[in-house]
Amino acid sequence: MKLPYHAVATVTISGILYMIFKSWGLAVSSFIAGIFIDLDHIIDYLRENGRPFRIKNFFRICHECRFNKVILIWHGWEWLVVWGAAAWLSDWNPWITGTLIGLTQHMLLDAINSIPDFKSLRSYSLIWRWKKNFDFDTLFPKMKNIKYRYIK
Ligand SMILES: [Zn+2]
Repeated sequence: MKLPYHAVATVTISGILYMIFKSWGLAVSSFIAGIFIDLDHIIDYLRENGRPFRIKNFFRICHECRFNKVILIWHGWEWLVVWGAAAWLSDWNPWITGTLIGLTQHMLLDAINSIPDFKSLRSYSLIWRWKKNFDFDTLFPKMKNIKYRYIK
């Protein structure tokens, strides 16, 4: 899902959390996790395109899905289990719980956004991507069509 939609969803959810629980820690950590999880796209971009990092080129490459491999280290259902366990073990510390909520809503929106391509739901698993050698075309077959529309 695109960054502006994530920003709107994240601000809304973080605002609702603040209104209900009156906890800055919960709201701020939810906001930070919900937005900044996407920084892992920069890691993939740099791995494939090298430096210097140019923001305009970065957004074009993401929009055109021009990746050979997608590691996306922070996009993984597995992280939700880890953060969920950490939140529970910390007796629902607001910063940890907020991070869990931010990551969860972001992952769900990414997943819902790819529902027409149901197979790619499992592609949001780090272990599944690893088993598929992080190959973009195998993991996101519908997006592969977008990619090859631009590469001619
Ligand atoms: Zn994302």
